[in-house]
Amino acid sequence: VLIVIVSRAMFILGKPTPSTKAMPSSLPQNLLSLDLGNKLSFNSDTLNVASTDFGKLVRSKPQAVLYPSSHQDIENLVKSSYTSTTPFSIAAKGRGHSVRGQAMAHNGVVIEMRSLMNCGNRINVSLTDLYVDVGGEQLWIDVLNGALENGLTPKSWTDYLYLTVGGTLSNAGISGQSFLYGPQINNVYEMDIITGRGETVTCSKHMNSELFFGVMGGLGQFGIITRARIALQPAPQKVKWVRMLYNDFSVFTRDQEHLISKNINDNGHNHGLDYVEGSLMMDISSLNNWRSSSFYSKRDYRKIISLATTNDGKSNIIYCLEVAKYYDDLTANTIDKELELLFSGLSYTPGLKFTKDVSYVDFLNRVRIGELELEKQGLWDVPHPWLNLFIPKSGISEFDYGVFHGILDKSRSSGPILVYPSYRNKWDDRASAVVPDEEIFYSVGLLQSSGMNDWEFLEEQNKEILRFCEKVGIKFKQYLPHYETKTEWENHFGAKWDLFQQRKIMFDPKRILSPGQRIFS
Ligand code: FAD
Repeated sequence: VLIVIVSRAMFILGKPTPSTKAMPSSLPQNLLSLDLGNKLSFNSDTLNVASTDFGKLVRSKPQAVLYPSSHQDIENLVKSSYTSTTPFSIAAKGRGHSVRGQAMAHNGVVIEMRSLMNCGNRINVSLTDLYVDVGGEQLWIDVLNGALENGLTPKSWTDYLYLTVGGTLSNAGISGQSFLYGPQINNVYEMDIITGRGETVTCSKHMNSELFFGVMGGLGQFGIITRARIALQPAPQKVKWVRMLYNDFSVFTRDQEHLISKNINDNGHNHGLDYVEGSLMMDISSLNNWRSSSFYSKRDYRKIISLATTNDGKSNIIYCLEVAKYYDDLTANTIDKELELLFSGLSYTPGLKFTKDVSYVDFLNRVRIGELELEKQGLWDVPHPWLNLFIPKSGISEFDYGVFHGILDKSRSSGPILVYPSYRNKWDDRASAVVPDEEIFYSVGLLQSSGMNDWEFLEEQNKEILRFCEKVGIKFKQYLPHYETKTEWENHFGAKWDLFQQRKIMFDPKRILSPGQRIFS
C-alpha cells in the first residue's frame, strides 16, 4: 500500500517512481547510457497509470514511462528508437485527457510531458510582440495566469483549462471563441518540434511550414511539441455571461447563427460577442451537470422547470444559448446597452434569460468548479464514452430530429451535450485538422459519463448515431477522432489523406509517434 501511495504522489509531482524492475530487453539498452536511466520508470504502478486515460474505456500497457527533465531527454529517446534496428513506439502524454487511448503506447514508451514542469520557467511573455512562448506540457490555466500577469491573454480557448498545450494543438482546441478567432491551432505563430527522426525543428507558417501545418491537428503523428508561441491580446477584466432558453431547435440555431454573424471588428475592438455556445437540457437533471453547476440559482431552477415539463407531465428538451461579452472599466458604462442591441430580435422564451457578471478568469475557468464537485462525489473518475462531431449546417436539423429526439435515451443520458456553430473559413485548410465542407458547421459534443460497468450501452448508442448520420447522408467529421480501420481514416481525412501520409513518411517514417491514435499502427 505504501509503495502505491508513494508512486502516486511521485506521479502527481511529475517525478519518476524508482524502478523496481530491470529495463525490458526489447528496449535498446543504450537508453540507460543516454542519461535517461534514472528518468525511465518500469515500475508497475507507473505503467498502470500510463495504461489508462480520462475515457476509462481502453487499456494499453507501455514498457516504460519517461519523465524528461529537458527537451534533450525527449530528443535522445526518439533518436534512440529511430536509429534502433527494432524501433519502439513513443507517445507524448499531456494530461491523458483523451478518451480512447490516444496518448498510450502499447509495448512502447510513454513520455510524461508534465515532468518538464520541473525544469524552470517555461511560460515567457513578449510584451512588445504580443505572444507567449510556452512548453508543450503547460496547462492552459497556467498559460492564462502567466499572460494575465502582463495584462494579456490568449484569444482562443477550450472550455476546460486543465489540458496541455501539446494535447489540444494536436487536435485543434475549440470553444465558443472559435467562431471569432478560429480554433487554438489558428492562433499559434511558431513551434519547436522533435520529429519522429529525433530531430528538433523550429517551424512556423513561413519556416518549415510543412511540419508546422502537419502538427496542427496532426494527432501527434509528426512530432512532439516542446514549445509553442501563442498569440496574445490585451485581457479584459470582466465578462457578462448570458444564457437564454429555447424549446424550438430551429429558432435556437437561427439565433446562434445570427449572433456569430455579428462580429464587427473595428480597430481591434470587437462589437459583437466574444463567445457563443449552446447546449441541451435533456431533463431537469442536466441543470446540474459539470458545465452548468456554477450558473443557475435555485430561483432560476423553478422557472426552468416550467419550460422543461410539457402539459402532460413529460419532459421537453430545452436548448440553452450561451454567450459572453468581455468588458473592462472603459466599457463598463456601455456594456449593457451593447448587449441589448446584440440581443434585439432574438426569440428566446420570454423571461428565460439569465445573466451573470463574473471576472474574466472565473468565466474561462468555469468548468473547474463542476469538476471539483464531481470529484468530491466520486463521479469524475468514471468512464467517458464521449462522441464529438462536426455537423454541417445542412444536416443539423435532421441531427436534432434523429438523434436528440430519437436515438438518445433521455433516461440514461448524463453529462453535457453541446451544440454550437463555427465558420469553416476560420480554420486554416493547410493544417491537418479536418472540418466539414460547408461554410457553417456545428460542434456537437455528447460528453456522457457512465458507471464503471455500464458504459457499453452509451458506446452502442454512439455507434447508432454514426450509422444514422451515414444513412441520412450527413457529411460529418469526428473531432478527437477514433477509427478502427485504414479505410475509415482515409474517409476521415478525405482530400487531405494523401498529404497526411506523405507528411508521415517525411517526419516519422518509422511510425514511432502516437501509436494510440491507431492511424498507422
Ligand atoms: P493527451 O490526451 O495527453 O494527448 C492527446 C494526443 O496528443 C495524444 O495522441 C498524444 O500523444 C498527443 N500529445 C500530447 N502532448 C503532445 C505534445 N506535446 N506534442 C505532440 N503530441 C502530443 N477539447 C477541445 O477542443 N475543447 C474543449 O472544450 C475540451 N474540453 C474538454 C474537457 C474535458 C473535461 C476533457 C477531458 C477534454 C476536453 N477536450 C476539449 C478534449 C481535449 O482537448 C483533448 O482530449 C486533448 O487531447 C487533451 O489534452 P491532453 O493534454 O490531456 O492530451
